[in-house]
Amino acid sequence: MSDDASAHRRRELADRLAAVHERLADAARAAGRDPSEVALLTVTKFFPASDAVLLHELGCTRFGESREQEASAKIASFRESVTEPVEWHMIGRVQRNKARAIARWAHTVHSVDSVRLARAFEKGTRAALDAGERTTPVRALLQVSLDGDVERGGAVADDLPALADAVAASDVLELGGVMGVPPLGWEPDRAFERLHEVHARLLRDHPAAVELSAGMSGDLEHAIRWGSTCVRVGTAVLGYRPLA
Ligand SMILES: *Cc1c(COP(=O)(O)O)cnc(C)c1O
Repeated sequence: MSDDASAHRRRELADRLAAVHERLADAARAAGRDPSEVALLTVTKFFPASDAVLLHELGCTRFGESREQEASAKIASFRESVTEPVEWHMIGRVQRNKARAIARWAHTVHSVDSVRLARAFEKGTRAALDAGERTTPVRALLQVSLDGDVERGGAVADDLPALADAVAASDVLELGGVMGVPPLGWEPDRAFERLHEVHARLLRDHPAAVELSAGMSGDLEHAIRWGSTCVRVGTAVLGYRPLA
């Protein structure tokens, strides 16, 4: 990118980021919450490493990606410019055979939705630790299917206790909380209220699993009303994604 193009993109990202921070703070205050309780995860999927570098200059330290290969390449390129540690989060659906590769770079995985996938991450994380590719456990969020349509990802509420126990029993995974996406056609408040209930139930047995990953560009105000501690925002910061 030319210096001009980069400066232009930087201004654009700065403006959009400021607007998102304002939305987030307004929503938190409207819900009687402190804005610092809600973390912003900037979703850089489909956008180049150069955008993540600019966002880092603008203060972002957590980035979300949804595909392993794209993320691995982007992170390698990002690290040529940025040496300070940042968090990369996996937010997309995961095939079990990608767990080992994801365990090389993911601070947190938002999309753990089966015991088999949890076991794949356990194995992959152990291998990554043994190889010196990471030094900390992978933080696992349990993705909840709010409408029971597991084809779209997520575990149904009835299966969560066993899944939570499997993750919590692992010494290389850390049970962080839950993640959810409103089903197509649902009012966001209905979806996030239900997610909030599922999370409250999980917290009874796993009080440290405090993360509630909920809310995207279009519905973050609703999610914050229902207790979101992490909003995953792509479009509102980076613009419309090119079609895959
Ligand atoms: C892409 C994606 C997001 C970001 O969505 P935007 O509407 O662009 O903010 C959030 N969460 C998940 C799981 C995603 O796949």
